[in-house]
Amino acid sequence: MLRSFKKLFIDNCPECNHALNYSSNHLFYTKSCPNGHFTEETYHHLGVRIIYKN
Ligand SMILES: [Zn+2]
Repeated sequence: MLRSFKKLFIDNCPECNHALNYSSNHLFYTKSCPNGHFTEETYHHLGVRIIYKN
């Protein structure tokens, strides 16, 4: 159960495998690669998730 749960979330950059940085405010929640390869924004109130890959 825990293993399948973890697969739904990306915790490391798909490019460089570096741990992603987390930040959040009242509007959205962001995970991003410190090297700029990957950014994921989750808007809780909209139920929307946006992923940027460079
Ligand atoms: Zn990266």
